[in-house]
Amino acid sequence: MTHRVAVVGAGIAGVTCAQVLTDAGHEVVIIERNAEVGGRMRTWHVDGLQCDYGAPFFTARDANFSVVVKGWCEAGFAAQWRDRFVALDAAGVAQPVADVSRFVGTPSMDAVFSTFVSGQRVETGQAVCALAKVNGKWQLSTREYGHYTDLFDAVVLAMPPAEARELLHEASPALSVVVDRARMRPCWALMLRYPTPLELGFEAAFVNGGPLRWMANDGAKPGRDDKGVWVIHASAEWSSRHLASRPDAVTEALMSAFVAFGARFPDAAAAYLWRDAEAVIDSGPASRGYVWRDPERIGLCGDWCRSGRVEGAWLSGRSLGLAVRASLARGSA
Ligand SMILES: Cc1cc2nc3c(=O)[nH]c(=O)nc-3n(C[C@H](O)[C@H](O)[C@H](O)COP(=O)(O)OP(=O)(O)OC[C@H]3O[C@@H](n4cnc5c(N)ncnc54)[C@H](O)[C@@H]3O)c2cc1C
Repeated sequence: MTHRVAVVGAGIAGVTCAQVLTDAGHEVVIIERNAEVGGRMRTWHVDGLQCDYGAPFFTARDANFSVVVKGWCEAGFAAQWRDRFVALDAAGVAQPVADVSRFVGTPSMDAVFSTFVSGQRVETGQAVCALAKVNGKWQLSTREYGHYTDLFDAVVLAMPPAEARELLHEASPALSVVVDRARMRPCWALMLRYPTPLELGFEAAFVNGGPLRWMANDGAKPGRDDKGVWVIHASAEWSSRHLASRPDAVTEALMSAFVAFGARFPDAAAAYLWRDAEAVIDSGPASRGYVWRDPERIGLCGDWCRSGRVEGAWLSGRSLGLAVRASLARGSA
């Protein structure tokens, strides 16, 4: 029997969960607040500057995710990023770097989403602001259009915990407790454009100490053509202390840290704050990598339920999709 399911959030967890349910024959609608899909894997396209300003790469250790990533690579939507990776301490002294395969979407990180969203119903530019049970089904409201016309048999929230918290307060006190215990850390990202390539002796650096955590030549990734684009990320500690700072003050502070590693000043710069960049994974309530409430038919997934990485978000979305599918099948029997 076909059921109607709403998936709120079109990051990698949401679209993966939706795919499992669509493949099982259910009628799925993905509702996304932003104008584009991708969540923290989306790509910055402003004033001719294009770069990956969230996740700069991802890894694939799980056997199932590795098969999916291999498919993306074969279809031209992703590629392995092999470049000069280094790890540096705050003084610029080199440290060992883990030897793992790192992947990127091509020609931009969000390209991997085209493998999911074709054939799926995705409503972008709609922020879900309320959930309520009406005659045993879920009714969603969006800030833009009020009550959603369809009622749903099940709902999945595939978003960071702070955003889910606002929706769960009245709709599911049990899940509200789960998200209350989850924590995320922020990250300021600085995007830079140079008229001529910048040579620092590496294309990507993990920084251990000081205000920076990551510096990379985004334009050096496979499939990009502007080698003058760099992205740097501040550490979670620095970002937490500068949540209220203005973008121009952040740009100035992070640029002076970048210059200390040998960089010069760019032609153009833009700063962006990811308030919920990185999940803090502790013992956590979502020990199976997702949360599903069978009686209410509502679930939670996302990186914060699993590992705080792209791969963890994919695994979380997939496991929840399988759990919802099994629950709906039991309900129809
Ligand atoms: C700066 C930075 C660096 C990172 N570095 C790495 C890395 O090196 N490697 C790695 O693997 N991962 C990295 N990550 C983490 C990785 O990006 C995430 O783990 C992964 O993308 C999370 O996917 P998700 O689907 O769980 O959540 P998200 O991608 O956050 O998706 C949630 C979606 O829900 C939408 N949403 C929220 N509220 C609503 C609402 N009310 N209504 C409708 N839609 C809503 C959001 O707009 C968003 O699109 C990084 C992230 C950041 C920000």
